[in-house]
Amino acid sequence: MKEKGWKEIPEGGLILEGGNASKYNTGSWRAFCPVRDEEKCVNCLTCWVYCPDSAIIVKDNKIVGIDLEHCKGCGICAKQCPKQAIKMVPEGEMKDK
Ligand code: SF4
Ligand code: SF4
Repeated sequence: MKEKGWKEIPEGGLILEGGNASKYNTGSWRAFCPVRDEEKCVNCLTCWVYCPDSAIIVKDNKIVGIDLEHCKGCGICAKQCPKQAIKMVPEGEMKDK
């Protein structure tokens, strides 16, 4: 069987308009979930700056939560946190939390 060329492959994942990222529930395929330790967190907002999905929720200059519908579990927030206040937990373990 002849392999398909790239022009024959069906188009997918197209973004046809600007400002529509919130329509995509990237959290639905997350494998690891960020869990923030409020005792360790000093609200420096580094995780908010680095999160590629704007999933760190901030109110009055403080972290108030994580938008798990849009967090894809990349772990950048945990990697960048200077206080190691965010731990990436396998989704399978989250139902016990
Ligand atoms: S980077 Fe860490 S210490 Fe800073 S706000 Fe985020 S969780 Fe808190
Ligand atoms: S795991 Fe990635 S997408 Fe989720 S809050 Fe952290 S930086 Fe944002």
